[in-house]
Amino acid sequence: MAIKKVCVLGAGLMGNGIVQVCAQAGYEVSMRDIEQRFIDGGMDAIRKNLAREVEKKRRSQDDMDAVLAKIKPTLDLKEAAQDADVVVEVIIEVMDVKKKVYAELEEIVKPECLFFTNTSGLSITEMAAITKRPKKFIGTHFFNPVPVMRLLEIIKGYETSEETLEIAKAWGETIGKEVIVVNEAPAFAVNRVLCTMLNEAFFTLGDGVASAEDIDKGMILGCNHPIGPLALSDMIGLETLLRVVEGMHRELGDKYRPAPLLVKLVRAGRYGRKTGKGVYDYTKKA
Ligand code: NAD
Repeated sequence: MAIKKVCVLGAGLMGNGIVQVCAQAGYEVSMRDIEQRFIDGGMDAIRKNLAREVEKKRRSQDDMDAVLAKIKPTLDLKEAAQDADVVVEVIIEVMDVKKKVYAELEEIVKPECLFFTNTSGLSITEMAAITKRPKKFIGTHFFNPVPVMRLLEIIKGYETSEETLEIAKAWGETIGKEVIVVNEAPAFAVNRVLCTMLNEAFFTLGDGVASAEDIDKGMILGCNHPIGPLALSDMIGLETLLRVVEGMHRELGDKYRPAPLLVKLVRAGRYGRKTGKGVYDYTKKA
């Protein structure tokens, strides 16, 4: 099956990025959210990204207009999804909300329509099981910011067919991503490795082994990481990191126990850059 029309549900941080890369690749894209202000926010972000490329002469104004013309923003789920060859669901990370949307979609979409979910770590198999098309259901985990980050992690659910996997891989390549394929597991592959390392940096700091600055400097200069693990955690959001680590702990056992210092910082409301303070204090630099 050839994908021509893509429906993206959610115009937030990840959703608008996915809409942008699909429109750039020439797909017709509908973008649906639940309130006009989210739609407006998503369209603004896409316009700003494209305008920056026009400014830097990486893209012509005509090309920018052509990309924008491919995007149909709407509040109406039926209008967004009824003709779609694939629905990419990028709504909030709450299992019950996602399941409710899939139940609604089943009444709207074409029988051959595929479902892609951009969950960070929820079970693909569990979501697929409430639909009538578990073979046509797959995880497509993008990285932030979507137009910049090259990786697309594709996650197979228990029932996902080889045909769906091949279509998802080919689609990922057409939108300019390098694809890796993983089997469903808590936090998939990238976040399992990354978040375990970030959690360990909080154990290392909490045990008084070294200062935050020296742990970060050590990983940058000694391991060639572009950013230290504690500074990266502040960018991701400590509460988000904690949620992923708690999920791994719950499903994979004590090896993944959250570091007490990470828990303490989250309890203190120090979520990182978004709240002004995390491991580091950003209010002083402002
Ligand atoms: P976000 O809060 O920026 O955007 C979510 C959007 O979904 C909001 O605009 C919200 O109004 C909308 N929404 C809620 N219910 C909806 C519905 N029924 N239909 C349509 N839209 C609805 O969140 P985000 O960071 O874009 O994350 C979205 C998904 O992507 C989550 O599952 C998240 O775990 C995953 N994800 C996030 C990142 C990241 O770095 N932020 C990375 C990979 C995956």
